[in-house]
Amino acid sequence: MIDETKNPPERRDLVKEAPEGGTMGVDPRSLDWPLAQAYFGQPKPLSRVIREKCLDCCCQVQSEVAKCTAINCPLWPYRMGTNPLRPKREARGIAAKK
Ligand code: SF4
Repeated sequence: MIDETKNPPERRDLVKEAPEGGTMGVDPRSLDWPLAQAYFGQPKPLSRVIREKCLDCCCQVQSEVAKCTAINCPLWPYRMGTNPLRPKREARGIAAKK
């Protein structure tokens, strides 16, 4: 439930001064999520988040994500927006979608 008495967070609410100097991001677990969704949007599957990061990494060029050779990047197996390490639906005993 969104508290309409509060404003959505702004960047300055999410990045603070660090005790040792410089800046630091706040712990996202401390955010008021109904409000934070106004900044970040609705929650999305992590596979989509990874895909978005890979597109960001490749200047939004899909073919470059597909051709990525950085196999030591932890996101590499997931860069196409799916989890290829997860057993297929049939192997998990779930009927295929029609
Ligand atoms: S897998 Fe490739 S495209 Fe994705 S973040 Fe890593 S280096 Fe970038």
